[in-house]
Amino acid sequence: MVIFALEMNTDQTQFELVSGLEIHVQLNTESKIFSSDSASFGAEANAHISPVTIGMPGALPKLNKEVIEKAMRIGLAINCSINQLNYFDRKNYFYADLPKGYQITQDNKPVCVDGYIDLTLSDGTEKRVGINRIHLEEDAGKSMHDQDDAYSFIDLNRAGVPLIEIVTEPDIRSAEEASALLTEIRKLVRHLNVSDGNMEEGSLRCDANISIREIGATTFGTRCEVKNLNSIRNVRRAIDFEFARQIEVVSAGGEIIQSTLNFDADAGTTSPMRSKEEANDYRYFPDPDLPPVVISDDWLADVKARMPQLPRQIMQTLMSDYNINRADATLLAEDANLLAFYNKAAETTKNKKSLVNWLTGPIRALLAEQQCTIVGFNLGPAQLAQVINLVDDKKVTQQIALQQLIPSIKDQQQDVEVVATTMNLLITEDSNELEDFVDQVLAKLQPQVQAYKKGKKGVLGLFVGEVMKLAKGKADPQKVNSIILEKLK
Ligand code: ADP
Ligand code: MG
Repeated sequence: MVIFALEMNTDQTQFELVSGLEIHVQLNTESKIFSSDSASFGAEANAHISPVTIGMPGALPKLNKEVIEKAMRIGLAINCSINQLNYFDRKNYFYADLPKGYQITQDNKPVCVDGYIDLTLSDGTEKRVGINRIHLEEDAGKSMHDQDDAYSFIDLNRAGVPLIEIVTEPDIRSAEEASALLTEIRKLVRHLNVSDGNMEEGSLRCDANISIREIGATTFGTRCEVKNLNSIRNVRRAIDFEFARQIEVVSAGGEIIQSTLNFDADAGTTSPMRSKEEANDYRYFPDPDLPPVVISDDWLADVKARMPQLPRQIMQTLMSDYNINRADATLLAEDANLLAFYNKAAETTKNKKSLVNWLTGPIRALLAEQQCTIVGFNLGPAQLAQVINLVDDKKVTQQIALQQLIPSIKDQQQDVEVVATTMNLLITEDSNELEDFVDQVLAKLQPQVQAYKKGKKGVLGLFVGEVMKLAKGKADPQKVNSIILEKLK
């Protein structure tokens, strides 16, 4: 067996990476694509099988409509056109984990075509990657060769679980772009409830096509395809390794031979698959058991109408409308529960910008301290909106809201303003009382008052702090400030 290794320190600056990814996404439907068997992960081996799944002669596949719907959702999210007339094809090959002897897939009529996906890279630059197509197919079973010395075992639970394959154009120019792309796809499939996007469990797998060319060249070089990468990190490593290896081959006067490669995650190297594994003649033809699937105009319009806002749009709106930074916007846009909470609270808060600030600032810190998420927060969205309104209206200080009011809310039926009133947390409106406090403080801190009068303006904060203490925090600091200034004139 050939295992590629890097030998030289070649100059990589003369070359550019060209890569396109084929991303398999396991859809999170309840049942399989062509049968009513459960599609869930983790059951006892061969618990989810039926005559269709194990390919009994005469068993007829029947399409799960949900699969088309999920494919449309992801297609629309990445700006594809939807093919309204769909065919399924048989891809013929023999393998023990494929009892029928063919995989049902879409060969030349994929459900989605011609899209693109926009990415923001770590340095802030924007990158657009073209999407060639998305096609539907069924997954195969799983062979286990490491359970027994003499036998291989087959688990067909996964056979017939729906997959979509997203094929990008060869627009990727670095390992970072590849990883940003996968991260974005994972985010989208989760946001759209199309897949759990778990790479560890194999719900997201990727083949990376990689070639190099001299900088400035306008044609593409010969590509190699690294199969079955099961983490974003391994996609990066495989790309980095192949980039270096191909440069080494070309720099030494050699030629890249188009081939299919395995990636060894322990060694971080690639090696060619046996040529037999590679020589495919799938003899695709339309599956006579499955009628064409027509996506009607009404169905398509309905799916479009039900599309939620996408994380990127939400983030851009948050950034431009409320002037919050990318990190905070990302935090909100990418956490479905937090976003739902935000949307609900936004219905009753007067100030959405303050809501964003509360959620990404103090509330986030509070939850981190309690080691819980927004789902375990003791306040409901409407209650948080009430708290924020009280603070914005200067009826309660932010500090008291955080330290006393919020922790006292025991159930989500309670009216926050009633609790604040009962606990006597409302800001003192009484100016006489405040003036009284100011007089007491200034009398007590005579030396500091003298210092202030000599120009040491910094002591003002001290005066305000002392008055706030006397007021037990229930005063508007700005109001206190202006009373003190008045008195010091
Ligand atoms: P095939 O159907 O033979 O696998 P495709 O044209 O569909 O070939 O391409 C498969 C993948 O390979 C796509 O993701 C595409 O972007 C990528 N690709 C095509 N040409 C190159 C190249 N020269 N270098 C890197 N990737 C490429
Ligand atoms: Mg291919």
